[in-house]
Amino acid sequence: MASLGSVPSVVLGFLLVFLAGESSLRAEAVVRVVATTSLVGDLVREVGGARVSVKSLMGPGMDPHSYQPTPSDLRALQDADLVAFHGLHLEGRMQTVLQRLRSRRAHVVAITEDLPVTRLRRVGEGDGAYDPHVWFEVALWRECIGTMVGALVRADPAGAESYRTQGEVLRMRLLALDDWVRRELAAIPPERRVLVTSHDAFGYFGRAYDFEVIGLQGVSTVGEAALSAMTGLTQLLARRRIPAIFVESSVSPKAIQRVAADAGVRVGGELYSDSLGAPGRSADGIDPSTYEGMVRHNVRTLVSALR
Ligand SMILES: [Zn+2]
Repeated sequence: MASLGSVPSVVLGFLLVFLAGESSLRAEAVVRVVATTSLVGDLVREVGGARVSVKSLMGPGMDPHSYQPTPSDLRALQDADLVAFHGLHLEGRMQTVLQRLRSRRAHVVAITEDLPVTRLRRVGEGDGAYDPHVWFEVALWRECIGTMVGALVRADPAGAESYRTQGEVLRMRLLALDDWVRRELAAIPPERRVLVTSHDAFGYFGRAYDFEVIGLQGVSTVGEAALSAMTGLTQLLARRRIPAIFVESSVSPKAIQRVAADAGVRVGGELYSDSLGAPGRSADGIDPSTYEGMVRHNVRTLVSALR
């Protein structure tokens, strides 16, 4: 029988290098996180850094209100070390699945769960009482960082220091981003601060940055824009002399294009609403596959169409 003593030293050397490589690989991504939306995935990536691997179930342009999980999504959710979702009924058609996961598993977090209700926009009664689109108020999205840090620390206590540091760095960056948004938007005069889009995603944006927001549909995209809403909007645009209206990346542009044509106003561009964009950089260096890039793209688009 071969003892270790009879193994040639060169083989032993390879074995040691192989084992060392294996353990450093594990140290790179410790926690496998499954996120529902691309926005939640971005927050996990920012706070988790190299210790996490992130899979977002919904890619660019996907609408979280109507998204239904596939069998492979369900398997990924089962196998994840941590599941991070948005909450506030944004994932309208995944509610049952998410609630069931939450009752059975330890590491499941809704990143909006610690937001004080006093800072949320009330839009109805019962389920879906609060507007879920909190990311459009940078200061409110910043409040979700602590919840993400807490969930990662619980799932991976050894990484606590790293998650807290990265959370702190992100808080600083978002503070600077919020300042930038205010400075840029100052170029739009008060009477032109009207944001017309496909659905009511920009309520928090309007509240935070002083815009009147008009959505063709309500806070959810489930169902189609009513003809009466389209006619009403067409009349309002003419009356108020609004220069441009906007389509959204995760909602079909048809209704907005139709209204723009009927009212004789310009489509001012495409805004990212409920999902981030595809990875890549625009001419001005903006990567819309990140939260920061998405905010910058939207603000630039608004400023150039409404200033
Ligand atoms: Zn929405």
